[in-house]
Amino acid sequence: MKAAAADETKRLAALLAEARRAVVFTGAGISTESGIPDFRSPGGIWTRMAPIDFRDFVTSAEVRREAWRRRFAMEESFALARPNAGHLAVAALVARGTVHAVITQNIDNLHQDSGVPDDQVIEIHGNTRYARCLDCGTRMELGPIRAHFERHGDPPDCAVCGGIVKTATISFGQAMPEREMARAEQATLDCDLFLVLGSSLVVYPAAGLPLLAKRQGARLVIVNREPTEQDDVADLAIRGEIGPLLEAAVASF
Ligand SMILES: [Zn+2]
Repeated sequence: MKAAAADETKRLAALLAEARRAVVFTGAGISTESGIPDFRSPGGIWTRMAPIDFRDFVTSAEVRREAWRRRFAMEESFALARPNAGHLAVAALVARGTVHAVITQNIDNLHQDSGVPDDQVIEIHGNTRYARCLDCGTRMELGPIRAHFERHGDPPDCAVCGGIVKTATISFGQAMPEREMARAEQATLDCDLFLVLGSSLVVYPAAGLPLLAKRQGARLVIVNREPTEQDDVADLAIRGEIGPLLEAAVASF
């Protein structure tokens, strides 16, 4: 992985220093640096195993069992993952007041674990560290669900209404969460700097947010391992590892 050049770090630091209400947008690339697999990447889980469609999950008990088996199989990756230098630098920018909102496509809770307050993290693909009832929305923790699954071979129904329980993620075929998308758009409209970290910006509607920011006059910075289709319109596009770059940029202003 190439390290960002010193002048790129300097330009990023200058843009951050000028920003008054920045938004950070994160994708899988920031979490792979914490050992979370990127499901969509070549060789990722979803290229070897078809993702489970939401409609199938709702209609088939066997599909639900399979979904929970897969989830528990990944528990070690999620449970052992810790925020890395990139997450911590983002948290420092939030604590300073430079960044007002962190919009994330990640489902791993690492922004909250790094100290960003819950109400400043906008999870547009949900969160896999806990579950919710699809009918009444009651939150459930994964530990008791797993214990029930191991004892009975099935996940429990919602204790409140008897509904289907699912990780609090947005699955393929499931509608985007309206409230979070509205919050993400508002934060984007209000920002003066939109900083993309580790997203290849191919999944819409989220990939429309950087362009929305740019259209209303914000600066756009993209840091990603691979080139993205929006690098051309960005004020600064850096290819490389996120953690060391952002840590150095934040430390220098
Ligand atoms: Zn319920």
